[in-house]
Amino acid sequence: MPTKPKRPCRYGGCPNLTDSKTGYCEKHRSLMQRHYEHFARGYNQHDRYGNSWKKIRDRYSGNHPLCEACLGVGKATMAVLVHHRKPLAEGGTNDESNLMSLCISCHEKIHKRKKTADDKPSK
Ligand SMILES: [Zn+2]
Ligand SMILES: [Zn+2]
Ligand SMILES: [Zn+2]
Repeated sequence: MPTKPKRPCRYGGCPNLTDSKTGYCEKHRSLMQRHYEHFARGYNQHDRYGNSWKKIRDRYSGNHPLCEACLGVGKATMAVLVHHRKPLAEGGTNDESNLMSLCISCHEKIHKRKKTADDKPSK
């Protein structure tokens, strides 16, 4: 009986195949979910500005289609999200100077780094 064809995971460089609708293997599905929630949270906090943030984000990602962190090391990777350098929750704004186009793996790294720094403030 025919099975659905498996596609390579959409996560850059991941060798796993998946038949999930999301296009991500099991390992990366939860990762993506986390990023999605990160997004949605920022969105809800500023519900009133939801529409304009969407516009700002679309314009910004249109002008910055490549991951800026990857560009910094000479790699060209499609950005998949717009990150706030300073989180809205900490008083950051939707101003372009506070935004950054990132691919998932760089976004993950930035948040991990931040978390580590927060966890060990004395070091
Ligand atoms: Zn994967
Ligand atoms: Zn990147
Ligand atoms: Zn972020």
